[in-house]
Amino acid sequence: MKRDYYEVLGVSRQATVEEIKKAYRKLALKYHPDRNPGNKEAEEAFKEAAEAYEVLRDPDKRRLYDVHGHQGLSGAGFQGFSAADDIFSTFSDLFEDFFGFSTGQGRSRTGPGPERGSDLRFDITIEFLEAATGTEKEIEIERLETCRECGGSGADRDSQVITCPTCRGSGHVVRSEGFFQVSSSCPECMGRGTIITNPCGTCAGRGRIPERQTIKVRIPAGVDTGSRLRLRNEGEAGRLGGPRGDLYIVIHVEPHEFFKRQGNDVFCEVPVSIAQVCLGDTIEIPTLNGSEQLKIPAGTQSGKVFRLKGKGFPDLRGFSPGDQLIKIKIVTPTKLTERQKELLKEFMEIEKEKKEGGFFKKIFKKVEFS
Ligand SMILES: [Zn+2]
Ligand SMILES: [Zn+2]
Repeated sequence: MKRDYYEVLGVSRQATVEEIKKAYRKLALKYHPDRNPGNKEAEEAFKEAAEAYEVLRDPDKRRLYDVHGHQGLSGAGFQGFSAADDIFSTFSDLFEDFFGFSTGQGRSRTGPGPERGSDLRFDITIEFLEAATGTEKEIEIERLETCRECGGSGADRDSQVITCPTCRGSGHVVRSEGFFQVSSSCPECMGRGTIITNPCGTCAGRGRIPERQTIKVRIPAGVDTGSRLRLRNEGEAGRLGGPRGDLYIVIHVEPHEFFKRQGNDVFCEVPVSIAQVCLGDTIEIPTLNGSEQLKIPAGTQSGKVFRLKGKGFPDLRGFSPGDQLIKIKIVTPTKLTERQKELLKEFMEIEKEKKEGGFFKKIFKKVEFS
């Protein structure tokens, strides 16, 4: 003969859903199989409470039960609990409701399985011109590698992996703190749910050990400060056979004394003499990967910018490369020989005659007559 559900939970027939939940929680914690291993009576009490709760928390089932009793429920296809699975799922749901955390694998009741290794970051500084041509670097990093001795299991050869006795495999422990129930990662098994009777001596049971590794990194042409390269599967080894993480290389490019970069274009300023711009000249310009001849026509003004198409940085995404922009800067000579001075004086005299007072005279005239 089945006991009355309200009686099982110890609540009145007018009990609210909250009261029902509270009553069930108390019983569930008391009779949970994890707390009463091998205790048949506790298991029955636990099942009974779970069944009562399953019905009374559901308004439709509760109405049926209120009117027709246990009979009404079996007529509606409710067969009570057959499998332990259902109880555990109910129990898990309840824990989530009450504590705001997940009880994890309530059904299979095993600890967390394989886990992907962490991603790693490595910052690398390269020279300005290396960013233009691309380069290959060897870096040394320390990362977790699967222990060769135990193959990552963390267990010695004649060791066993057993369910953690402290948390009974759940990976966390619940303790009361005044009114509240607080859950935390199990200190014995570190949340795995299992412990190893004889840990591997090489990795102390961790399954992974830090190792220094030298890795070749191919840096493509066109990278800039802030560019990130992702090296798949070069991060840390996974836990318990999980996949490796990735390695991210973050690029920093050193500044250059002659070149400046803007996007994929490269700027430079070239000093030329007054005579070169007056008479015209061809000069050799350094580029990112060599040099180019640049023709400066006669009469070139100071600040004039010449463009060498396609002589900038290659584009990382495969678009056309940037340009090199060359700004002409006329340098005023400071140390002149007597002969140079003589020639310049002569030059100045001719200029005066040619311009009849020149630039300023024109300005003064405009001011006078306007
Ligand atoms: Zn090991
Ligand atoms: Zn544990």
